Amino acid sequence: MTDTATMNNNTGEWTPSSWRSKPILQNPEYPDPAPLQKAVSELSRLPPIVHPHEIVQLKQHLRDVAHGKAFLLQGGDCAELFSYCNQSAIESKIKLLLQMSLVLIWGADKRVVRIGRMAGQYAKPRSSPMETVALSDGTQVKLVPSFRGDILNGYHPDERALDPGRMVRAYHHSAATLNYIRAAISSGIADLHRPLDWGLGHVRDPALRAKYSEAVGFLRDMLRFMHTIGADRADKKLDTVDLYTSHEGLLLEYEQYLTRLLDIPPGAGGGGGGGGGEKGKKKEYYDTSAHFLWIGDRTRQLDGAHVEFFRGIANPIGVKVGPTTPAADLLALLRTLNPAREPGKITLITRYGADKVEELLAGHIRAVEDSEYERTVVWQCDPMHGNTRSVVNSGGGGGAGVIKTRAFGDIFSELQQTLRIHKEQGSYLGGVHLELTGDAVTECLGGSEGLDEDDLSTNYTSFCDPRLNEKQALELAFLVADHYRS
Ligand code: PEP
Ligand code: MN
Repeated sequence: MTDTATMNNNTGEWTPSSWRSKPILQNPEYPDPAPLQKAVSELSRLPPIVHPHEIVQLKQHLRDVAHGKAFLLQGGDCAELFSYCNQSAIESKIKLLLQMSLVLIWGADKRVVRIGRMAGQYAKPRSSPMETVALSDGTQVKLVPSFRGDILNGYHPDERALDPGRMVRAYHHSAATLNYIRAAISSGIADLHRPLDWGLGHVRDPALRAKYSEAVGFLRDMLRFMHTIGADRADKKLDTVDLYTSHEGLLLEYEQYLTRLLDIPPGAGGGGGGGGGEKGKKKEYYDTSAHFLWIGDRTRQLDGAHVEFFRGIANPIGVKVGPTTPAADLLALLRTLNPAREPGKITLITRYGADKVEELLAGHIRAVEDSEYERTVVWQCDPMHGNTRSVVNSGGGGGAGVIKTRAFGDIFSELQQTLRIHKEQGSYLGGVHLELTGDAVTECLGGSEGLDEDDLSTNYTSFCDPRLNEKQALELAFLVADHYRS
């Protein structure tokens, strides 16, 4: 596809439903129109989950990231389930993201912008429409439609039929999750002077342990000092933090009905949505399902429905970039999604794999940074999705016998190479995008606990991709901090 063809394709009139005239991948075909109609009319009547004021504020923070003045930490589950909408799961993720960001602030000496893959990460792209599952007695396997995320169907083998009513449930679970995030944060869960558990008992390597202890000692002293001088008082605004929400904007049926034409908040600039564009306008389309949405690696076709939908909304948006992204497509995507060249509007989330990043990243950086989009994008590294592999689940528990895992060493290696390549190219790696959980899961190999394949079955609870546990996630933050400090 040439640039010209792309531009012609995407310059028609944009509406929240114009994506329907484009080819679409990963879209559900609901068999019965009546329940679908019922669900979407309910969605269109419900209030926005997030407010344009917050969306615009995040975009302004991301502009600072694009300019090298702040760092972006984005993380959460691969597939969020409705059942994760509970106090302890929400709190442990907030605490982990906060703790990681303290380490990053200390390391990079920059403000950290936090975005959770939370409060809406319910739709999953799948490579195959069918998958095998273990029956409850653990001895048999059965072929059933793939689990596509709680917003589409259920994980239980008997719940694999698509149910549009799940979109309404997704809305309510997103709203309840975000409600508790706001409540917990404004009530002091993120209170910087509360003791956090920095236990380092699991770190086996003495040299690493000494390094982390030094950092933790410094952070503790700093927090105590701030408390002593009163710099953490509520009126100084240091006792609360922002946490924005995000998910993959995969299910356009849902996103369309939460997209609303709303007043542009004062001070926002305007002209952000590609679908509107003209200066001086008073309203823009905001996708109010989350602050930030991203287009996945499988649905970023230039002439496809997802790019068409996302070009019209004013939210900051991400695009996954991988080994199958031609450098020429990157520019065409930017021209379509961000014709006004707003800094911070687009985050390029690179995910090549530890063995491919060296070959591909520099070319992608040059394509963007040598164009009119120089210094407008946020470069973010997702060291998870290019490093997934399957291993045989030896630890019992039945099942199909094969589970997905990722090695901490590969994750760190991609991140470290990405940091180095950006430095060599004179660009700024502005953030990381991680799959993590605050629970003590055993889904990724390695890290300083030294998890091996036999350990995976101890506490493997992901319903999709393997996540870093709390210790592995914190360790990654320490390693990034170390890069900036050395
Ligand atoms: C994801 O972020 O969970 C995902 C499916 O990623 P990607 O689109 O990069 O494969
Ligand atoms: Mn994933």
